[in-house]
Amino acid sequence: MIPFLDLGQINKPHQERIRQAADRVMESGWYILGREVETFENSFADFCGTRHCIGVANGLDALTLVLKAWDLPDRSEVIVPANTYIASVLSVTLAGLKPVWVEPDPHTCLIDPAQIEAAITSQTRAILPVHLYGRCCNMDPILELAEQHQLYVLEDAAQAHGAIYKGKRSGNLGHAAGWSFYPSKNLGALGDAGAVTTNDAELASRIRALRNYGSLQRYVNEYVGNNSRLDELQAAILSAKLPFLSAENKRRQMLARQYLTGIKNPAVLLPPADQVSDDAWHLFVIRHPHRDRLRAYLQERGIGTDIHYPVPPYKQKAYAQYSHYALPIADQLHHEVISLPLNPALTDEEVSYIIDSINRFEKNG
Ligand SMILES: *Cc1c(COP(=O)(O)O)cnc(C)c1O
Repeated sequence: MIPFLDLGQINKPHQERIRQAADRVMESGWYILGREVETFENSFADFCGTRHCIGVANGLDALTLVLKAWDLPDRSEVIVPANTYIASVLSVTLAGLKPVWVEPDPHTCLIDPAQIEAAITSQTRAILPVHLYGRCCNMDPILELAEQHQLYVLEDAAQAHGAIYKGKRSGNLGHAAGWSFYPSKNLGALGDAGAVTTNDAELASRIRALRNYGSLQRYVNEYVGNNSRLDELQAAILSAKLPFLSAENKRRQMLARQYLTGIKNPAVLLPPADQVSDDAWHLFVIRHPHRDRLRAYLQERGIGTDIHYPVPPYKQKAYAQYSHYALPIADQLHHEVISLPLNPALTDEEVSYIIDSINRFEKNG
């Protein structure tokens, strides 16, 4: 049996380091907003190449707090990709803003910059590109439009730890980025965790306040803030794992190459292979017109898969007011995508077996 993802296996190589980090926090007697959070913030800012990193409780909060910190007029519009994980969109509505859905490029599954301009109105204040599956969005045209129309750009980098766009790391491509260190992400904690990266000192300071009751100085509350702190324990664990992220991403890239060259089934649509070593390969997502049949077949052969995601956010009950929209490309992607196992714990032999299985699937139609 090859599981889609076994988090215990992912963390196994780090077991000793994680135990030491946990012991250190335990013995320090200091559990919230201390040295561990500060240390991790500094190393993650270094990693991304940004001036600031602010640890928060999770990825959804990271995005939401940035949108709140920008203090946009109520019901301002934020451009989001129509196909994404729902958290990207929840951040917009939780901040009291309005999502405007833009279709993806069917080849990359990423927001299509060519379709953004038509979605911009006098109410638009921000664009929220999601580096879905670990590949950076096509940022140059997005940044150009943002500059032209004076919009903020908030990267949802929750799937793109270490991904590169034209030599720059994700998280350093717009005005701010929201990160998640949910256990299954390329850099994962042993619980919930998140961060904001930015080069804007004023925004950074606001987020620092907003994550902690709107306060920078004890018992002085400047804003109506949240409690959204990254805790010392998770920060220490993240610091222990961060030095290995690049090597783990390299391993993901090797496995992705193996899939890209090995899968020959003509009914399978592979992800783009033009920037394999810039991509963080959080997920290896293929498309097949009979995705559910392929999934059941792989399951029979002992191969776990997952669907990212079965339903587009605008078709969820939570967003029923948008369900009549016509977003056919997003719909089609949500029907056809299937994620193959791809993680640093996977062996070459396992990937060969998965490739062989896919190549044998419905060979004769
Ligand atoms: C995981 C994820 C989030 C949310 O992160 P949490 O830490 O689970 O809140 C947001 N956007 C995307 C694209 C994600 O994959």
